[in-house]
Amino acid sequence: MQLGTFNLEVVSAGYFPLDGGSVFGLIPKPIWNNYIEADAQNRIRMALNCLLIQTADKNILVDCGLGDKFGPKQRDIFKLSTEPSLKDALSPYCKPEEIDYLLLTHLHFDHAGGVSRYNAAGRLELCFPRAKVVVQKKEWEAACHPSERNKGSYPADNVAPLDEAGCLQLIEGDYTFMPGIELIFTGGHSAGHQLIKVTSKGKSAVYSGDLMPTSHHLRLPFITAFDIEPEETLKVKKKILAQAADEGWLLIFKHDPEYEAGYIVQVRRGDKLEYILKPAKIQ
Ligand SMILES: [Zn+2]
Repeated sequence: MQLGTFNLEVVSAGYFPLDGGSVFGLIPKPIWNNYIEADAQNRIRMALNCLLIQTADKNILVDCGLGDKFGPKQRDIFKLSTEPSLKDALSPYCKPEEIDYLLLTHLHFDHAGGVSRYNAAGRLELCFPRAKVVVQKKEWEAACHPSERNKGSYPADNVAPLDEAGCLQLIEGDYTFMPGIELIFTGGHSAGHQLIKVTSKGKSAVYSGDLMPTSHHLRLPFITAFDIEPEETLKVKKKILAQAADEGWLLIFKHDPEYEAGYIVQVRRGDKLEYILKPAKIQ
């Protein structure tokens, strides 16, 4: 879709199943199961929607999915199917070597795994060899020194090649990446989680990363169990949803297999504010 002077495309890096309990945090299964089906092992289907932003002369990719650096055990646990591949999804628009910038919401494996792969000689190489990779400094530090709790989310083979290639641009806090593209620091989900906001000619679209991984997470208490500061997530989510409803922002959902994007309507039920999705397609 055209958003003012930008062309936006959702490019899929495939799907993966994830434990439903971890996706909905404190919400009991009898509640979330009203909205979403789980398989026999309690896993739900998660999309890996990445965003391509094209300007007149730049290709900017937001997040890059799981990649394919998995051994047989992880493939089995996650029942990985990365079809269609991100490379295939990008092919109508550009080649991987034509990506100028990779903006990462954060460095968890399902957002940053696609930065690198093992070549035939067993050496790590970058999947977007020309891209400058933009990430929050706090996130980089968390990924380089993960705790016992979150080290499964930050595999070393995602982080190390970025450091060696010298392609990193570390930023701190809210940051204007270029006129019309802002990176908004949220924290909450991870130490340096950020949103990507694109604005042109009075219209805005926000890639919400894992602040609201699916449209189900528009419900305020629906916050993943991965979040390191869930109260912070709640605070930022309320602020972003109120702005999105007031200013007509298009929200793009990384992990929603049904609704890739939509506009937000605020409704009041008694003393409670609720947010409802008006689904939209980016095409
Ligand atoms: Zn995620």
